Formats: sequence, C-alpha cells, structure tokens
Amino acid sequence: MDRVAIGITGIVQGVGFRPFIYNLARRCGLAGWVRNDAGGVRIEAEGPEEALAAFVAGIRAEAPPLAQIDSLAVTRLPPDGGTGFEIRHSGSAAARVALVSPDVATCPDCRSEIKDPRNRRFGYPFTNCTNCGPRYTIIRDVPYDRERTTMAAFLMCPACRAEYDDPVDRRFHAQPNACPVCGPGYRLIDNQGRPGAGDPLATARKLILAGAIVAIKGVGGYHLACNAWNSRAVAALRARKVREDKPFAVMGGSLAAVRRLCRVSPEEASLLCGTVRPIVLLAKTGGYDLAPDVAPQNPCLGVMLPYAPVHWLLMDEDDVWVMTSGNRSDEPIAFADGEARERLADIADYLLVHDRPIYRPADDSVVRVFREAAYPLRRSRGYAPAPIRLARPGISVLACGGELKNTFCLTRDDLAFLSAHIGDLENMSTYEAYAAAIEHYQRLFAIRPAVLAHDLHPEYLSTKYARQTGLPLIGVQHHHAHIAAVLAEHGLNEPVLGVAFDGTGYGTDGRLWGGEFLLADCRDFTRLAHLAYLPLPGGAKAVREPWRPAVSMLHSLYGPGFVHKAIPLTRHLPEGWELLLQAGARGINTPLSSGAGRVFDIASALLGLRFYNHYEGQAAVELELAASRLTGKALPFAVAQDDLPQLDFRPTFAALVAGLERGDNPAELAAAFQAAFSRATVEMVRRLGRQTGIRKVALSGGVFQNITVLEQVVRGLEEDYTLLVHRQVPPNDGGLALGQAMVAMERSR
Ligand code: ZN
Ligand code: ZN
Ligand code: FE
Repeated sequence: MDRVAIGITGIVQGVGFRPFIYNLARRCGLAGWVRNDAGGVRIEAEGPEEALAAFVAGIRAEAPPLAQIDSLAVTRLPPDGGTGFEIRHSGSAAARVALVSPDVATCPDCRSEIKDPRNRRFGYPFTNCTNCGPRYTIIRDVPYDRERTTMAAFLMCPACRAEYDDPVDRRFHAQPNACPVCGPGYRLIDNQGRPGAGDPLATARKLILAGAIVAIKGVGGYHLACNAWNSRAVAALRARKVREDKPFAVMGGSLAAVRRLCRVSPEEASLLCGTVRPIVLLAKTGGYDLAPDVAPQNPCLGVMLPYAPVHWLLMDEDDVWVMTSGNRSDEPIAFADGEARERLADIADYLLVHDRPIYRPADDSVVRVFREAAYPLRRSRGYAPAPIRLARPGISVLACGGELKNTFCLTRDDLAFLSAHIGDLENMSTYEAYAAAIEHYQRLFAIRPAVLAHDLHPEYLSTKYARQTGLPLIGVQHHHAHIAAVLAEHGLNEPVLGVAFDGTGYGTDGRLWGGEFLLADCRDFTRLAHLAYLPLPGGAKAVREPWRPAVSMLHSLYGPGFVHKAIPLTRHLPEGWELLLQAGARGINTPLSSGAGRVFDIASALLGLRFYNHYEGQAAVELELAASRLTGKALPFAVAQDDLPQLDFRPTFAALVAGLERGDNPAELAAAFQAAFSRATVEMVRRLGRQTGIRKVALSGGVFQNITVLEQVVRGLEEDYTLLVHRQVPPNDGGLALGQAMVAMERSR
C-alpha cells in the first residue's frame, strides 16, 4: 500500500470537483479523503501503486467540464491504513485563496429539467448544478460555501439537502442549489412598485410581446428588455435610456433565430452556445428585419443566446429581444434592488425582480471573431474573475487601470486577476463601485498588493485612487501598458515593435499621445515613431466634437478660403467656428495630440459622417461602418521627420476634400482613407523593423477594435513578421490594467 498527498490548484472549487474525485477514487479502489483548501483542492489517497497511478492520470483526463487544473503536485506519505473515501468540509479560515469561478451559463441537464413538466424544477428560474449557475456574482467570500454566498438566507428543503449531500448527485455541494419550495423567486411589479397579477414570468412575457419595456433582474445585474421587432418599444427605450446612437444588443431565443438575422460562422456559433455566452458581434444578412432603432446604420449586431434559466423560461425559440444593460447611458449597471428600482423606474414600464441578491455586478461580455478566434471587446460576465496566467511569478501588484472602460488588475504569483468591467470612472457612483470592487477582489483572492501601478495621467480618478492608498507607486505610460498587456497575454517578455493606437493617453512629454510606435518589453519602452501632432482646439471638447479638429485641419490646409470648399462640413459650419480658429491661432486651450482616434475623427467629420460624438469613438466607428465591404485604393500620406519619424495624414485629408469636391462617393473615400491609414502603419513598422531588426509586432489600443484596420495591418505584415494581437483582454482601455501590472512586476524584480 502507498499513500500520496495531491495538491491541485486552478478553478477546482464550485465546479463539481470533489464529487468527481470521490467517484474516481472509489472506482480506483482507494481510501482517503478530498477537501477544498487554500490553494484549491487537497487529496490524500491510499492504495496499490497502479491504482494510484490510474487515479492521478484520471484526474487530468476526466476532470469536470468547468474545472481548470493549473498545477497538480503529488507527494508521498507514510500509509495510515484507513478504509473508505470521504469528502471533507472546507479547511480553516486560512483557506481563503482558492480561485473563484466565473458565472456559468445553464447546462443542458438543468435546461431540460426546467422544461420537463414531471420534474420538480419545471419552470423554476433559479435551477443550477455543479456544472452551471451563478458563482462570482453571488460570492461574498471564500472558501466557496453556501453561507458565504448570497444564497445564505435560503434554507435548503429536505429534497435539495439530499441532493447537496449525495456525492454522486449532480448537485452535490452545488452551493446555489435551490428549488421552488426553498429557493428564491421572481416577482413582477410595475414602475410604481405595485405588484402584478398572475405568474410573473408568463405575465412579463405577455407584456414584452405587447410592446412593454421590462427591466429583468438576471445574473450580474438588470437588463432592459423589449421585443426587437417592435419599433415603438425600441424607440421608446432609446429615448428613455438617453442613448442616441449606440447599438443595442439583442438576445435570440435560439441559434436558428439568430441565423435568420446574421451570418454565423462555426467559431461564432461556438461562442454563442458555449458556457460563457458573451455578446458576439455578428454581420447582419439580407434577412435582417429588426426595428430600425436596434442598431441604426450598423452592418453588425451584438447578439447573445439565453444563459440563465429565466431567459429560457421567458423566451420562445423564435423570439429576438433587445437586452441592453439596465442603466442610463454612462452609469454603471444596476444590480442592487432598491437602487435599481429608483434608477430604472422611468425607463422600464415593469420590473421583473428576484430575491437572490447580486453581490457583485457583472455586465455582459462582448467579443467578436477575428481570424477564427475570439477577440474580446469587453471582458466581464463569464470571464472575470478567472485569472490570466503570466509567464512567471512576481510581486503582488494592484494595477489601477485607466479612466474609460476601467478594469483593475490584482496579481499573485503568476496569476493576474483582471476585474470585471467597471465602466467610465467619470462620476462618483462609478468611482465608489470601483473602490468597492477592489476591496472585494483583495479579500476574495487574499492579495495584499506590495505595489500599485497607475497611469501617468494625473487627473484620472484611478491615479488619484492609487495616490491616496499610501502604498509604493509605479507610474506606467499608457501606451506602454497597452503593449505590455499583449505581451502578458502571450507570455512574452522580449523587445517587440508595439503599435498602440487609441484616442488619447498621457505621454512622457506631457502631451497627449495615441498614435505610438514603441520598442517595448514588459519593463521599459522607447518611442520610435508616432503620428504627427495635431492641434485639438477646445481640448476635451475637440474629442466630443470632431468638427473642431476638422475645421482646424481645413484652415491649416487651405487658409481662410477653406469655407469655399464644397464639402458637407463647410455647408454646416457649427456656430463658434471662427472663435475656435482665433483661439487655435493663439494656442489657447489647444493641446497637441498624436492620437490615432483624432485622425479618424477628422476624416469622419470631413466626410460629413459625424460632427458630434455621442459616445467615445463614435466618429471612428461610423467611418469603419461606412467603409465596410468596400476596398478603396489607399489615398496618399506622408512621412515626416522631426526628432522621430512621424506619419502625416495631411495629404490624406486633402485627398478626401478633393475627392468630395469631385463628387466621389463618401463611403468609398472612407474605405480609401482606412486603406491609407493601414498602409502607412505597415510602412512605418517595416521601416522600424529594418532599423531595429525586430520581427515581432504587438497591436493594441482602442483603434484596433476596428476590424478592417486590424485585418489590413496584419495582412500587410504577416509574411515577414510575427503578429501578436489580443485574445484574452480587450485592445481598448479595458485591457490596460493587465499591462500596468506586468510592467510593475517586471520593474520590481
Ligand atoms: Zn446545471
Ligand atoms: Zn429545495
Ligand atoms: Fe488607451
């Protein structure tokens, strides 16, 4: 007889791991025990040598679908002659550092139970098991046990308890286990708080089909739902949510319903139908016929499939409903009941609420497919807080992230816990949510950071948060952090050519950067080239109002006579344009920016596509949309040389104006502009490649959410270079904190 101790780390709690071990050990004829502990799961097993070997092999080969084994260490112990195998309760209070699983979409077994009239969970919207259900959003603390979740207040009925205690049951130690007898329930109220009559789900469904807007409390927060074919309901939702143009995401009742509206590739289908179920951006087809206000002028649609029992119970297979996060624009998602009712009462006609508290909110994640693999745009529900594994362990860091699309990142050893999407840190409510989430993550993962990493921008609330902690600080340049995030994901720490294109980030010279070519590793960087600086008359106003930098560009190209150019912008010159030029001439409130986003803004305004941004990056998004599926011949551009080489798009802008005056199609000009932008990028990288001899190129920054530019740049370089693109975190500032953490860890060595 031999006895071994086996320590397993990874996502091994709350995923049916202990019953799996129990069954496997019994099959192998072993004695011993299994329990959750600090790092994950600990096992002691005793039996013949071959049986132990088969057991260890089986752990790896047959682990439950949601488990993720990061390490498995076997040590020998003296035999102690016990018999039988048992599941022991979680270890002591020291056992605080196990990994917490993200929320998981309802599994096929649970789905068939809620649709089976003979099952005791027929129609029950809180059905879950060890293979599925809420996790992160209900966990107050670790170890993951029921009393430390928001299910603590619900006492299991005897039937649920029996499942929970039975090692061979699918619900053995399923912490959120519940049924209609003992678990939480839904209630329907109108926006005055008056209860509705009848079955809440059936009534909510009827109301939505009749054109109402219903706020639905789900897994990570509230959704606002309405029938996506009902033009009046969708228009009302848009008006009440104060969301002028940004597309709404929809939920389709089935993959078949989605295929009637959008093209779905095999990779997209597997994302839609997987265990995470993010919103996937899909291309609309000719059969697309949803209400015009769902995704105006957009060839793409954000689509998800049901992921919680309530969705399957509410929706039929043919339904398509708008499912947008329950907030007014720019506010964080609503998730706490009282507050939600207050905030959503004048948007929703009815609220479908339940009494299982959401401890932490999680927005729906958003991904698109780039070259047959997921390319994340928002990493939140279903992904967070699963860690990203780094190439090697280091000091514990709290990276505070950026300002817009904020996430933060905590590291321990070689694991980086990137938070769920927090939002734009511009108002007090988001800032409070941010500070609370940092607290929670520190407790959940038992991390006390030794160092804080922050953006160099002194005015970011995330920077201010870092300052008030009193801990040692490491400032990380914004675009270096973007590139380091790509490197961290790919487990690389060697110098690469980093192309970081975004709207804006604080540069080491105090100017606004955002079109950067860096020589960077995870520790340091050198700026090798950038986009030419352009004046931003009005500062922050120029970012919200692309007509401003566009007018300033026209003036610098043509002088005061620009007003006679026959283009849309000169026909609609907004009030105050002369003042803007005067201020610009004197340099008043006119910072310089090398931001790639501003280049797209100017092109978009010159083409008459957008003079005012209603959301971040709108002008650039609409330029990509206008150009979609067209292949323009690249317009000219220039390379200037100051202390560093610079890409100058003034000739490109002049060519746009000339084209418009000739009567060229603006959409084709938009495509030709994008082609010029991509070609200029490729040429600059090639030039820097020759100069440095480096053959690896990392692409990051919000501009690389533009899939056309991403594809053109990758295609232009891939024969001679290894291209590194984001696969785990977003290219926008939602991925920034990972890069900050990486840099701080490397600098602390
Ligand atoms: Zn299940
Ligand atoms: Zn029950
Ligand atoms: Fe950025």
